[in-house]
Amino acid sequence: MSTISRRNFLKLAGAGTASAGLLGTPLARAASASRVVIVGGGVGGATTAKYLKLYAPGIDVTIIEPKREYQRPYGSSEVITGQVTMDDITISYEALKTRHGVNFIHDAAADVDYDNKQVITAGGETVGYDRLVLSPGISFDFDAIDGLTAELAETKLPHAWDAGDQLLELKDQLESLPENPTVIIGPPPNPYRCPPGPYERAGLIAQWLLDRGDKSPKVVILDPKNGFTTDYSMLHAWNDLYRFNIPKPARSKYSEDELAQLKTHDEPGPLEWVMGDLGGQILKVDANTMTVEAEAGVFEADMINIIPPLKAAKIAFDFDLVDGSGWCPVDQKTFESIRHPDVHVIGDSCIAGAMPKSGYAANSQAKVLALQLKALMAGNEPLEPVFQNTCYALAGNTDSGMFVADVFRLKDDKIVRVDEQRYLPFDATEGQIRLAALYQHNWMKAFTDDCFS
Ligand code: FAD
Repeated sequence: MSTISRRNFLKLAGAGTASAGLLGTPLARAASASRVVIVGGGVGGATTAKYLKLYAPGIDVTIIEPKREYQRPYGSSEVITGQVTMDDITISYEALKTRHGVNFIHDAAADVDYDNKQVITAGGETVGYDRLVLSPGISFDFDAIDGLTAELAETKLPHAWDAGDQLLELKDQLESLPENPTVIIGPPPNPYRCPPGPYERAGLIAQWLLDRGDKSPKVVILDPKNGFTTDYSMLHAWNDLYRFNIPKPARSKYSEDELAQLKTHDEPGPLEWVMGDLGGQILKVDANTMTVEAEAGVFEADMINIIPPLKAAKIAFDFDLVDGSGWCPVDQKTFESIRHPDVHVIGDSCIAGAMPKSGYAANSQAKVLALQLKALMAGNEPLEPVFQNTCYALAGNTDSGMFVADVFRLKDDKIVRVDEQRYLPFDATEGQIRLAALYQHNWMKAFTDDCFS
């Protein structure tokens, strides 16, 4: 190290890395000195680790993650309504460890020393890095809604938006509901994890209550927003399946021709969407009286599922990676933090232009990041990235699927969406709608394998 600059050393090490799998030269062994440490073994962290080991096997990759098994948030609303179990959403790290040679430290990252390039775990272990990656997910702003607390989220008012036992609590609550109950779902404001998710959950719960034999259950969505990703397909499907009348301000989402084909129901069904313009903003919740006060008035409920506003994971705040927006600003090509060099943030915690906060997006960012890390650590220029996202969703009935599919590129250093047709067309056939639901079921497995196996 004394006779070559640090940058040139990394260049040599990176060059060795690129050829390590092919040649096994002494230079390749030197590459093992390059260390990438990843905080968070969720979608983004696991995918980065796996693809980095595939693209540059000589780089030493360590994931710091407190949990011994990952519970996937994607597809987790189906735990509440019983289509899948907690076992189904629990994923082993074994393949990453044994097949891909990723090191794991099962502990929480607690501190960082940027000068000496070290992460310190809660258990006191010091882990050195050349490049640090964080994909630590989200945290919740309970203070934003009067009456909501982290403690209540563990008991009476679970959000169940980050997998875990709250899913089982909500499942118990659902199964204990009286006949024809009122359930309130409170989606968060933008930006948030899984844009179609709260509406899919509302549909799944409505369908569950109908399947149980309830004749007039109510699932009321109190929403601060006037729209959501897949609203065009979701509202149409509800109109068809659940005697759902599309609220007047939302009818502008459809053409004249489409509006003429939508139904008007004299007796509305179980789903009600109180959009922002109609007073959907929640002001206060009272867990004792089970009431929710919104701009539109006070609603009594038998079950309340409010997803608080979201922000970057706590560790991103602790590591000084967050700006005033509550999220982590990053270079849009390399995901390197704007605030600290050699630190990259991907997944839900980062600001990624037009990309949504979804598992698919985190996985797409991770694959790009693995290539960029390989290039950067070899002293090369980063590549021109292309990203993708597809979010599948169910209307409630598990045979009724939909999706939003997007491609993203860099334009003027910003990640922008480049496609036009994103949704199923209005006149999609029954077969296409069923296929979209089938794609969702299959995607869940193929996607999990891509990240973790
Ligand atoms: P995560 O996957 O949450 O991983 C974060 C990891 O970081 C966790 O394992 C956590 O333990 C770890 N961590 C946190 N703090 C620390 C620390 N201090 N030290 C070490 N580790 C730490 N996405 C889709 O693409 N399609 C879908 O159909 C879909 N459906 C969804 C349905 C629901 C109901 C929900 C809630 C989400 C859904 N998502 C979906 C979103 C998807 O699950 C997330 O966008 C994705 O998990 C984000 O990945 P991530 O790596 O940013 O965070």
